[in-house]
Amino acid sequence: MERNVFDTIIIGGGPGGYTAALYAARAGFSALVLEKLSPGGQMATTDQIDNYPGFPQGVNGFELALEMQKGAQRFGAQTELAEVLRVDLRGPMKEVVTQKETYRAPTVVLATGASPRELGLPGERELRGRGVSYCATCDGMFYRGKTVAVVGGGNTAAADVLYLSRLCEKVYLIHRRDQLRASRVYLEPLKQAENVEILWDSQVTELLYGETLTGAKVRHKKTGETRELSLDGLFLAVGQLPNTQLFQGQVELDAAGCVVADETTRTNLPGVFAVGDLRQKPLRQVVTAAADGAVAAHFLEEYLSQRQQ
Ligand code: NAP
Repeated sequence: MERNVFDTIIIGGGPGGYTAALYAARAGFSALVLEKLSPGGQMATTDQIDNYPGFPQGVNGFELALEMQKGAQRFGAQTELAEVLRVDLRGPMKEVVTQKETYRAPTVVLATGASPRELGLPGERELRGRGVSYCATCDGMFYRGKTVAVVGGGNTAAADVLYLSRLCEKVYLIHRRDQLRASRVYLEPLKQAENVEILWDSQVTELLYGETLTGAKVRHKKTGETRELSLDGLFLAVGQLPNTQLFQGQVELDAAGCVVADETTRTNLPGVFAVGDLRQKPLRQVVTAAADGAVAAHFLEEYLSQRQQ
C-alpha cells in the first residue's frame, strides 16, 4: 500500500467514527481514524451512559470510547492523533492534511461531532476554567460541597444538574422557558432532588467575577425582576454547534452549520459521508452516531466497489 493512502479516512474518533472504522476494516478496507486528542469525542466526557444497549449497569463514556477504538483496531483500523488542518474532498481522491502529514483516500467519513455553544456573555471566555465550565462530568468534582448553576433545558442540562446535585451543596437550574426540552426520564429525579432549585423563564444577563466567578445576575423574563445568585461555578449546557468549519465551501451545510445528509449518511460530494452529531438528524445519541457509522461503511463499500467496475 502506498504510504498515507487508505480506502477510507475517518475524521473524528467518536462513536460514529469508530463504528465506521470497525465496519470498514472488518469488510477488509484500510481505514485511518484521525483524532485530535483522545478517542470518544463528547461521549468521553460523559460519566455514566445508561442508554447504550448492552450495559445493564451503564458504562463510563471514556471506557466505552477505548473499547470502541480497540474493536476497530482488532480488524486493522489505524488511529493517528493529529488535528486536521484542511481537506480537499472534491476530487475522486480526497486529501486530508494534518500538521505533519497529508493523507489520501477515495472515501472520507466526516465524524467531527459538535462542541458546546457559548452564551456570549462578557467574561465568559476568560472565566473558562475559573468558574465557567461546559462539562459537568469533567469539572464537577472541583465544586464538591459548593453552590453552582446549570444553564439550559435539554438533556445535557438535566443530566448535569442531577450529576452535580450528588456533589454540590446547592444546584440551580436556569432555563429560559417554563418547560424543559429534556426527556421525561429526568423530570421526576429533578423534582426529588432536594438541593435543586429550578429558575424558570430566566436568563443569565451578567457574570459576576473577580479573579474567578463569584455569581451571576439572572433576569426573570416575565416579571423583569433581576436576582443576583452567589455561585462558585456556572455550567453552560445550552446546546451544541456542529464542528463543520473545516468542510465549509465544499460539503453542503444547512443554516445551523450541520452537514446535509440523510439516513444514508451520503453528502452532496461522492465518496464523502457524514456521521453522528455533525449531520442533520432528529436524535443525537451515542447509539445513533454508532448506527450512522455502520451505515456510512455500508455505502462507502458500495461506492468503492462501483468505482472499481
Ligand atoms: P439541546 O437539546 O439543543 O438543548 C439546549 C438547551 O439550551 C435548550 O433547552 C435551549 O432552550 C437552551 N438554550 C439554547 N440557547 C440558549 C441561550 N442562548 N440561552 C439560554 N438557553 C439556551 O442541547 P443538549 O442538551 O446539549 O443536547 C444535545 C443533544 O445531545 C440532544 O440531541 C440530546 O438529546 C443529546 N443528549 C442526550 C442525552 C441522553 O439521552 N441522556 C444526554 C445529553 C445529551 P430551549 O429549550 O428554549 O430551546
